[in-house]
Amino acid sequence: MRNDQDSPIRGYFNNIWLTVYTILVGMRTSLKYCFAKTVTVQYPDVAPVLQPRYRGFHFYEIEKCIACDQCAKACPVDCIYIEKSGPRKVDKETGLAVGGAMTRYAIDYAKCMFCGLCTDPCPTQCIHMGNVHDMSGYTRESMIVEFTELAKQGLQTPQPVWMQKDKLPKWAQVRKQEWLEFTRSDDKLTGKRDLRRQSMLRALEPSEPAKKKGKS
Ligand code: SF4
Ligand code: SF4
Repeated sequence: MRNDQDSPIRGYFNNIWLTVYTILVGMRTSLKYCFAKTVTVQYPDVAPVLQPRYRGFHFYEIEKCIACDQCAKACPVDCIYIEKSGPRKVDKETGLAVGGAMTRYAIDYAKCMFCGLCTDPCPTQCIHMGNVHDMSGYTRESMIVEFTELAKQGLQTPQPVWMQKDKLPKWAQVRKQEWLEFTRSDDKLTGKRDLRRQSMLRALEPSEPAKKKGKS
């Protein structure tokens, strides 16, 4: 049986054919996408469409957190940092956590994979994947979000850098307003203004029973 090695001329033309054929295959794919519906979003001029189960920067309810470390243990990249001044537990009457103060709850987004594994084991369901999708920083340190610091401002999720700018496209102005209302909303159940904010601030201080215990 003859092959290309037996016939250099046949090998030469075979190579030419293979080159032309593979180019045609590649061009066929390119041409197909030339006429397909475009999926590119002209962000930031146009709002991105987020799917309902999109996993963005976390949404954290400090007032319910008992600092049990379950989320940190579940995290595959060890990017959750938790510190407390004493044990915390849920007060059955209010459903809020009491005891020692939350002195730190931080997530390093330079490491986070947005896998959502931290949200599953939380016994008080106070850590959720949020829908903030665009946050950037100029240093690695700036990618660490201190949720305890955000709580002092009444915030439960980080504010994207673009929201802090004055000139925003129209969709972004609307989204900023929604974000502010969402993160700073009043307590929906009681209608009492700033109730949640007060609960958040209380979580940063030892609660009364813990204070008494500490004195004795
Ligand atoms: S989303 Fe995944 S990687 Fe990010 S903090 Fe949670 S468990 Fe860790
Ligand atoms: S967020 Fe949930 S799992 Fe993590 S420390 Fe707080 S209570 Fe525990």
